[in-house]
Amino acid sequence: MSDSAVVDSPKFELAPYKSLSNDELVARIDAVRGVLGSKLLILGHHYQQDEVVARADLRGDSYQLSQLAASSSDCRYIVFCGVHFMAETADILANRPEKLAERQGVRVPVYLPDMAAGCSMADMAEIDQVEAAWADLGEVIDTEEITPVTYINSAASLKAFCGRHGGIVCTSSNAAAVLDWAFARTRRVLFFPDQHLGRNTALKMGITNAQMPVWDPLADEFGGNSTESLQASRVVLWKGHCSVHQMFTAAHVHQFRERTPGIKILVHPECPQEVNDLADVSGSTGKIIQTVEAAPAGTKWAIGTELHLVNRLKSEHPEQEIHFLSPVVCMCATMYRIDLAHLCWTLENLQAGTPVNRIEVDEETARWSLIALQRMLEVK
Ligand code: SF4
Repeated sequence: MSDSAVVDSPKFELAPYKSLSNDELVARIDAVRGVLGSKLLILGHHYQQDEVVARADLRGDSYQLSQLAASSSDCRYIVFCGVHFMAETADILANRPEKLAERQGVRVPVYLPDMAAGCSMADMAEIDQVEAAWADLGEVIDTEEITPVTYINSAASLKAFCGRHGGIVCTSSNAAAVLDWAFARTRRVLFFPDQHLGRNTALKMGITNAQMPVWDPLADEFGGNSTESLQASRVVLWKGHCSVHQMFTAAHVHQFRERTPGIKILVHPECPQEVNDLADVSGSTGKIIQTVEAAPAGTKWAIGTELHLVNRLKSEHPEQEIHFLSPVVCMCATMYRIDLAHLCWTLENLQAGTPVNRIEVDEETARWSLIALQRMLEVK
């Protein structure tokens, strides 16, 4: 078996896997898992389909999974059932200098079963756009007075940008602590790519919408803002959003409250402000799960996050009444691309020594990204 190199011609083509039944795919996936044992780590994001999550060794949100990948000592191959930026972060953390030293320089390759599994939010901030915005901001504000903060849901190049410019990465669970860290250093923050997480977090810290202009990378000048509004800003929000969480509205909250007295609204901070303001609880994927787990039997919830996770919570907690907050299907279409066929194809090619779909961050980008990630890890 090859340790990492992706070959031009994999031993197995993808097409035949698509006609196999789920039972056949599961049996073949488990056969590879049996042979590779603890050398293989399959990570499954909470938003994945149930049958994929069931084959994962570890389940979590993007940050938890990267942490788990980074701390595993036995594993020699990671297959990440998530999206592109998550596999990049796993590659950076699993192959950071101290880990490489422990393994005598041997890298742990990370594979993404479908290369088209991207993230529409991450794609809304490209490194050229962020660098152009930084240069434009420098015409009206001293950029020494701005800390760039990127949500972990972003390309490695943006994390590296933050590393180079004294900035930091945040997750949906530590965004407030990260903003505190940033404000202890500079008066202003440039927050990308998710405007909603940035806004919802900063509002709770007493920063007003008037102090949070939105930077549109497609606008002609200064992201569509006046120089005065930028000079008065505390947080410049990037005009990006999650296409899944953006779908929840205040009307959905009102409908549930009218129909079901006593219902509690539990949402992710990637939802728009109008939804967050009305919710009983707003928190990361991990907090949503913990909140449901800790609730007494009979609690009624309308939950605003990705559909697969809500359906799983519903089946795992029959003692509670759990509803999906929106009447329309809000699921992560890119995450959904990872299915049993792609997972089986990836694993059998890995076992055959013709690995496919390796995600590898170049050394320079990884080095600067790691600086921004380590700053985040140091924030309590
Ligand atoms: S749920 Fe939203 S933020 Fe998460 S991977 Fe999908 S598009 Fe990206």
